[in-house]
Formats: sequence, structure tokens, C-alpha cells
Amino acid sequence: MIFLKSFIKNRFTAFHFFYRYLGIRVFFVLGLSLLVGFLDGLGLTMFLPLLKIADGGSDVIGDGLGKLGMLVEWLNDLGIELTLFTVLCFMLLFFTLKGVASFYSTYYKVAVRQYFVREMRLKLLTHLSNYSYKHFVSSDAGRIQNALTGEVGRVATAYTNYFGTLQSLVMVMVYMVFAFMVDWRFALLICAGGLLTDLVFRRIYTVTKKLSSNVTRLGNTYQRLMIQFVQNFKYLKATGTSGDYAKKMKFIVKDIESNNLRMSVLGIRISAIREPMLIGIVCMVIMVQVYALKGSLSAVLVSLLFFYRSLASLTAMQTNYNNFLSVSASLDNISTFESELKEGREADGISELSGFENGIQLKDIDFSYEDISVLRSIHLDIRKNTTVAFVGESGSGKTTLVNVITGLLPVSRGQVLVDDMPLSELKLQSYQKHIGYITQEAVIFNDTIFNNVTFWEEDTPENRDKFWRVLKQASIDGFVDQLPEKADSLLGHGGLNLSGGQRQRISIARELYKEADILILDEATSALDSQTEREIQENIELLQGQYTLLIVAHRLSTIKHADTIVLMENGTIKATGDFDQLVASNSQFKAMVELQTFENE
Ligand code: ADP
Repeated sequence: MIFLKSFIKNRFTAFHFFYRYLGIRVFFVLGLSLLVGFLDGLGLTMFLPLLKIADGGSDVIGDGLGKLGMLVEWLNDLGIELTLFTVLCFMLLFFTLKGVASFYSTYYKVAVRQYFVREMRLKLLTHLSNYSYKHFVSSDAGRIQNALTGEVGRVATAYTNYFGTLQSLVMVMVYMVFAFMVDWRFALLICAGGLLTDLVFRRIYTVTKKLSSNVTRLGNTYQRLMIQFVQNFKYLKATGTSGDYAKKMKFIVKDIESNNLRMSVLGIRISAIREPMLIGIVCMVIMVQVYALKGSLSAVLVSLLFFYRSLASLTAMQTNYNNFLSVSASLDNISTFESELKEGREADGISELSGFENGIQLKDIDFSYEDISVLRSIHLDIRKNTTVAFVGESGSGKTTLVNVITGLLPVSRGQVLVDDMPLSELKLQSYQKHIGYITQEAVIFNDTIFNNVTFWEEDTPENRDKFWRVLKQASIDGFVDQLPEKADSLLGHGGLNLSGGQRQRISIARELYKEADILILDEATSALDSQTEREIQENIELLQGQYTLLIVAHRLSTIKHADTIVLMENGTIKATGDFDQLVASNSQFKAMVELQTFENE
């Protein structure tokens, strides 16, 4: 059968996927369906004695039931005589038990679904937080977002439909066994009916599968464009291009809708043709029984019951399978996404770094992205509480070098030593907990100032004290104090509008609250107005000498007082020294200083 072939060939991986998350639970789900089918079969069997009694037969024996007659004989042997009363009692008993089993079966399936979704989300979140920065920068943010939101939901739907398919398959098999036991000729007719319906569904399956992978692909693109829309909102508004950008996205929205609509129409078509197809087959069977086999109608009524049930399960199976196919691409997507996250896992050491006492040393390091060499033969000694600034042309490797120092990027050769311990042997987080990161586009969360600074610490009197202490240190306490809601004022979208300098002071306060020892200041390339520049200059001076400062500098005026300036060129260190030393000894640096002084005049 086409269905079975496709199911077994393509969907074993799906079974394996679910099994990895659910283990033995998958067998319980199927076992409970088996029980429901079995109890239903027993209940239906009782119709035959009932019909015999209705026909006026007094002694009910097992003939006409085929091999199932054994059941009646077995009951007789037990001394239970099948009268109208006992038959009805048995029928009631079997259907009640079926009802109970069916309740638990559905309940269990739903509970397992919740468990599955939760486990999958937790696992993906863990993988994502362990994902290395090196892999992250070259991955598609839209895809990550889509996988963790929309696709997880679609995989949950895949679960429901996949197990719906398997459950229906179990039911079909149970009814087939019952049907075979009653009359093998009917069983054969079921198979024939099945094959017939299969042909109808064949094409629908293929189209659905293609549409499903379209929806996943478009979903990834949509999320990617959406992220960029939000991130670059200011630019798009300022340049009057937000409409054009939205237009580009609207095409995708329409595409997704039309794919979804086509898939829904296929689903609707399946459910619409289901009933007439079933009745058509039943009519054919009755004709064959009465005219070709010259049997009586009442003798086949019970068989017809099995027959009808079996075909109903068969079409339910096909509907479920088609629904499963419509989301199957998401299953593949999540599956590959998960293995990519696993493969891109950050390498981590085992030793904990408790304090930061001496400094960081870079010993002859190289760094490259795949084949592209970015840093070469870097030697550098960074003592605790000194200020080191990295200058050089755009693309000379400043940001990459700082990323290597923070452990975001692993070196290709050489060693990074933190307090004389190789970084590769340290638990990265235990080191990174000592690092504070301050970018010019300060990181502000949509929350209160208190939560922004404390990073959602508990609101206790001690933490409040510490909060105000660091605000003072970052020179933002006066501003916060005069706000109507003070520490509880909301920041971010829909919150307070802060100036560039104020935002930066809030983010400095966050790093101070965290008690970071090493502060990274990345002055993004955007041109600063002189007011903000002065504020930043003051911010940096506040911290010098108390913290180890690493400054990626684009403006030389901000680093005049740095202890060491590292001049980078084409992935190597060209010269090091303090400001005056470099002006005196390095013509390139001198030229840069003169150019910027000239620009500022
Ligand atoms: P800077 O901070 O001095 O402007 P960067 O450290 O950002 O320079 O970049 C140094 C070099 O590394 C550049 O030539 C850049 O093209 C390259 N680079 C940066 N990121 C990647 C990446 N993800 N893949 C490949 N090359 C990269």
C-alpha cells in the first residue's frame, strides 16, 4: 500500500524523533489505543447474539460469528447463558470499559503532548544558550526565531497527527483481526477498499508535502525580515523606506497565506470525500454479499459493523497522515536545527575562575573564520585595572581581538591566559561573569530601571541600596531620583526616552552592579555628537584605574588617557604604547591623530 510504504520509509525518522523525546511513553500511547479498539470490538461482537434473539432464536450459539463464536462458547462454558438480558449487560459493560479506556487514552495523549512540547522547548533553549558565538554570527537569526516559536507549535501539531495516524493504524489492524475472525472474505474486501481510497489520497499527499516545506521556508524568511524591520526601524522611517520594506514582507505574508489555504483545501477535500467514499464501499459490499455470495443480510450486519469501523479508521488514518505531512517539514527543520545547535556547541573547560587577580595574556594567537585568517601572531599583556585601547582602520581586527579576549571566539592557534590559567581549560561562564559589556548603542531591556540595572534581582532593601550605589558611581542617580517613578520607571519601547549618554550610564550601572572586573567598551562606528562624546569621555574617566577597561576606539580623543594603546593593522599588532609614545614613534598613528584633530576643528 502506498500509504504504508510512504509511512514506513519516510516516517521512521519521525518515530525516532518522537521516541528520543518521549521514550517508552510512545508505546503507552499506542497500547491504550489497542485497548480501546479491542474493547470496542468485543462490544460490537455482542450485536450478533442480539440479532439472533431479535430473529426469535432462543438458544444463542456461536455460528455466524466465525472464529469469534469461541467467545460465545467460552461464555456458555462459564455457565453464562446468553439471554437478552445478559447480552445487553455485556454490551453495556464492554462499551463502558471502552469509554473509560478511551478517556484515559485521550487524556494520556494530551498529557504526553504537553510534556513533549515542554521538553523540546527546554532542550532547544539549552542548546541555544550553549551555542557558540562563532557559529551564531554565521547563522540565520530568522530561522532561529522561527524554529523556537512557530516551528515548535507546528511540531506539536505533527505529534498529534502522527500519533493520530498510528492510533488509527492500530484500530484498523484490530478491526481487521476481528473482521478476519468473523469472515475472511470481508477482510479481503476491506483491503480492496483500502487500496481504492489510497489511490485517491496519493496525489494529495505529494502536494501537501511540497506546500508544507514552502510554508517552513517562507516562515524562516518572514521572521528574518521581521527581525531586521524592528532592528532597523529608525533607518527605514528616516529614509522613507519603511513602506517599501513592508511591501516586500507583504508578498511573503500573501505567499504563506496562499500555501496555507491550499493545504487547508486539500484537508477539507479529504474530509468531504471521506463519508461518501465509505458509504459507497459499504454499498458495494452489501451487493456482493447478497447477490454474488447469496448470503442473508442479517448474517453480515455484524461484519459490516467491523467493516465500517475499519474503513472509518482507515480514512481517519489518511486524514491524520495528510495533516501530519502538512507540518512534516517543520519536523525535519527542527531536527536539523537541533543537530546544528549541537554541532555548534561552545567548547568549554572544567576549572572555575573564582576571582580575577592579575590579568590576561595573549600568547602568539591566530584566529580565522573557516579559511579566512583574521588575526595573526598576536602577543599582548593586559594587567588588572589598566586601560587598553584598540585602534586601527575599520576591518583591522579590533572587534575580533576583543571577542577572542572575552572567550566569544576560540583561538585557532596560541593561548589566552587568564590569571595564568589557559582560557580553554576554564569554564567559560565563570570567566565571562567577570566581564561587563558596554556598547555605544546601549543594551536596554523593556523593563523598569531597577530591573535593567540589577538584571531582575530580587527587590530587597540590600539590593535597593546597592542599586543606588552603582547609579551614583555611574553618575545617573540624580537623573533617576528626579523621575516621578524613580527606580520603577519603565525604559525601552513605550517607556522613558533617554539620551544616548543616559542609556550608556544605565548600562554601565548594570555592569557595576554585576561587579564585573573587566569592562569592554565598544564605541560603535556611528558618528557621535560632541555632547554625547563628552559624556562618554566622562563615563570612561569615571571607571579608569578601578576596572580593567578594554576600549575598541574609533575616536582617538576618548583614549588619550589609556595606559596602553594597541594599534592594529590587517589582523596584526603594528605598535603598542601610550598616547604620547605612539604619537612620537609611529607615523601612522600620528597621521590618524592629526586627521581627527583636523576633522574636529
Ligand atoms: P574592526 O573591528 O577592526 O573593524 P573586525 O574585527 O570587525 O574589524 O573584522 C576583522 C576582519 O574579519 C574583517 O576583515 C572582516 O571582514 C572579517 N570578519 C568579521 N566577521 C566575520 C565573519 N563572521 N566571517 C568572516 N569574516 C569576518
